[in-house]
Amino acid sequence: RRPFAPSSRSGVRSTEELAKESLVTKSAAAAARATVYGYPRQGPNRELKKAIEGYWKGRVGAPELRRTAAELRAATWRQLAEVGVHEVPTGDFSYYDHVLDTSVMVGAVPDRHREAVAADVLDGYFAMARGTQDVAPLEMTKWFDTNYHYLVPELGPDTVFAADSSQQVGELKEALALGLAARPVLVGPVTYLLLAKPAPGVAADFEPLTLLDRLLPVYARVLADLRAAGAQWVQLDEPALVQDRTPAELNAVARAYRELGAPTDRPKLLVASYFDRLGEALPVLAKAPVDGLALDFTGPAAVNLDDLAAVGGLPGKRLVAGVVDGRNVWINDLEKSLATLGTLLGLADRVDVAASCSLLHVPLDAAAERGIEPQIARWLAFARQKTAEVVTLARGLSGGTGVITAELAANRADLASRAGSAITRDPAVRARTAAVTDADARRAQPYAERAAAQRAHLNLPPLPTTTIGSFPQTGELRTARADLRAGRIGTATYEERIEAEIREVVSFQEKTGIDVLVHGEPERNDMVQYFAEQLTGYLATQHGWVQSYGTRYVRPPVLAGDISRPGPMTVRWTTYAQSLTDRPVKGMLTGPVTMLAWSFVRDDQPLADTARQVALALRDEVNDLEANGTSVIQVDEPALRETLPLRAAGHRAYLAWATEAFRLTTGGVRPEIQIHTHMCYAEFGEILDAIDDLDADVISLEAARSHMQVADELAAAGYPREVGPGVYDIHSPRVPPEDETARLITRALRSVPAERLWINPDCGLKTRGWAEVRPALERMTAAARAARQQL
Ligand code: GLN
Ligand code: ZN
Repeated sequence: RRPFAPSSRSGVRSTEELAKESLVTKSAAAAARATVYGYPRQGPNRELKKAIEGYWKGRVGAPELRRTAAELRAATWRQLAEVGVHEVPTGDFSYYDHVLDTSVMVGAVPDRHREAVAADVLDGYFAMARGTQDVAPLEMTKWFDTNYHYLVPELGPDTVFAADSSQQVGELKEALALGLAARPVLVGPVTYLLLAKPAPGVAADFEPLTLLDRLLPVYARVLADLRAAGAQWVQLDEPALVQDRTPAELNAVARAYRELGAPTDRPKLLVASYFDRLGEALPVLAKAPVDGLALDFTGPAAVNLDDLAAVGGLPGKRLVAGVVDGRNVWINDLEKSLATLGTLLGLADRVDVAASCSLLHVPLDAAAERGIEPQIARWLAFARQKTAEVVTLARGLSGGTGVITAELAANRADLASRAGSAITRDPAVRARTAAVTDADARRAQPYAERAAAQRAHLNLPPLPTTTIGSFPQTGELRTARADLRAGRIGTATYEERIEAEIREVVSFQEKTGIDVLVHGEPERNDMVQYFAEQLTGYLATQHGWVQSYGTRYVRPPVLAGDISRPGPMTVRWTTYAQSLTDRPVKGMLTGPVTMLAWSFVRDDQPLADTARQVALALRDEVNDLEANGTSVIQVDEPALRETLPLRAAGHRAYLAWATEAFRLTTGGVRPEIQIHTHMCYAEFGEILDAIDDLDADVISLEAARSHMQVADELAAAGYPREVGPGVYDIHSPRVPPEDETARLITRALRSVPAERLWINPDCGLKTRGWAEVRPALERMTAAARAARQQL
């Protein structure tokens, strides 16, 4: 009956045994179906991005934009149905962001945007997303621990919700008109409120979840409209429930689904969770009067299986099992997934197969890649390939392994080729990571002694000034890179242009009186890609675009194999810059954690192992910089905070390997070499100890907008090292007046003593123009000189 369940280990009661004893009794197993929760939006040739940006520029009319969008949706649904997806998702499409769409659906339009929305729905929508000359957009933040960003709903005690189901109903009807079974996918009400923040002018301690009772009737209305339009099932996504939730929040979940589940004329409700285990919310939802749950069974979320068995399964309910990882780019282990699915058969009334989350977070089609060695290409699965895997698994679950023999054999061969490849297993890299000792990840002297050695070695003035690394990435630089790629110019010409830029940047900094110089990073397209391209084991894709926000798509590199560094990556440019000046030039590297955070990672070894490999490659670079005369080296870790696991239980282990990787990168230099790090994105509260554990000598942080809050926090935590809280907000084109910078310096001196305070901008200057950067840095150094006089 359960042909795929692995045999149980003796002694321990296995999940399979628990499954057998569960309350679920089935007459006959229903055929398993394949489904997905969402699909990449941009289209095979990024048609959506082009149409939307064309619309913004006035080149594309609204009807044409709508037509392009409808065609892309239809093409996606047809393709999904053709390969065997039984229920296609609707409502996952968006012109910008699905959380913004939810705000529109529930009528939560901020007051400042009402006029624009009333004048024109589409323009009003984009005004909320991007702002206009006169009104600010909604704030944007990361969607859980992915690299997708959503627009934060702004709510307050006066928020009046009103249902607008037109988009949801419209898209459902489009899919039904194609003769397809379709399942609308909505952001669930609890997650929606938990993702919201108090609107401007509303008390900061206002909790949007208190609006639940007002919001539920609106959701009920939308569900009824969808039912009337022909929806059998509606999916409500509640990923916020995989985070640690308070008893009050769990009560809200119970209340929400008791109320939404009550009407008799509603569609069947599928509550979906993903990105981690459902935990304490699982028993709550299992008891709720909904018709199905969708759970993630990949990676750490695999414990959902035991948790599900422990609550006695989902008698009478549908289980959608996310067994294909919706976030990585790797082929599934089909046999392993079948074993999971086989066990799950004993735990629910009906088991369907899905990817763990929306396929929004992976690129569209691995088969479109031309530049990847065929041997490696076989290991890759993007949205299209993952959909095929889901379908194969559903067929295998329903019909037995016999109906998918060929797929299983091919999968086994591909997995074996990956496991046994010299790319994924480089003996030299493995020997080196295995030999790492605690001492390798520790500087030779404690911080206090190093600080003295550095002071003597660098001989900097008090309140030294520096920048975060990049200078404006001008049009000429981008053109030069494009010309090089297209073969219009040779390497020598390209490098001359880079050197010319470095000369410019160095001479500007000398003239302005900056104390620790940078070369300006003109050679870098991107702070991760630049290094990925030079490291063995890293893969670049040609078409691997994923949505970061709105029409911005990024192409994260892929950590495909064991990582090593064939040769120096930055030494040439740093030493060139140093040859032009007597002042110290700071070497500039991207740290191991950020390299992982902004890449697709391996699923065949712990992240900690990959981090260690990257760290050792970067360590070689750090040591080479030192050997070539660099005395100050900055290792950027802006992503240290953003990769923090969703549940607190995972924080310690993560921070342990993350900080070790940083120390391994920087631990090999002499005491007088000064190691800097840099982080942006305001909330550091949870990682203050980890920041200290990095054992960097100097840290620069984003602080201008939060009025030095982070400097206060570090001071309160007793942080003993040197700190450069940003005194120039580079995220705005505005050039701060000198007295504003001076005030921020005075403010910083209240929490950081002068001997340990650096003066620098918030972040790199690559997105700014010279016209702003020149006066801003001149004022910054003038303010620093004036502050020195006062000491
Ligand atoms: N050194 C990088 C730069 O200046 C740091 C960028 C970042 O923190 N995101 O561009
Ligand atoms: Zn930054």
